[in-house]
Amino acid sequence: MDRCLFCRIAAGEIPSRKVHEDDEIVAFHDINPARPVHLLVIPKRHITSLATVSDADVPLLGRMLAIANRLATEQGSPDGFRVIINTGRVGHQEVQHLHIHIVGGPDPVGPMLKRV
Ligand code: AMP
Ligand code: ZN
Repeated sequence: MDRCLFCRIAAGEIPSRKVHEDDEIVAFHDINPARPVHLLVIPKRHITSLATVSDADVPLLGRMLAIANRLATEQGSPDGFRVIINTGRVGHQEVQHLHIHIVGGPDPVGPMLKRV
């Protein structure tokens, strides 16, 4: 499972609207934005989900969050934003490559979750 959709986006084999790239991390616009700002931050290396990270990934995860913060400000959500990491079946993760959603824009994104 090392050539999933997001591996291929990270490698530039599938086009995306990239807003950040370094040796470990890529960020790009979500193809189906839920809010005016909707970005995805991914590791270049295939990691299936937050449920499969190891202690060695801690610096990478920290950098992903720091990049998320910077990009939110730069890309049109300077007054706050939400990060979402859907994980596994219960988390309704559709793409099996770790990704941080950044959602925001000029207006509040709304309450966290509908209560059940
Ligand atoms: P998740 O449900 O957390 O796995 O989210 C997957 C996200 O990937 C969704 O918000 C999709 O709109 C987004 N997505 C799927 N394919 C692409 C693509 N080719 N380029 C950019 N975003 C994509
Ligand atoms: Zn992958």
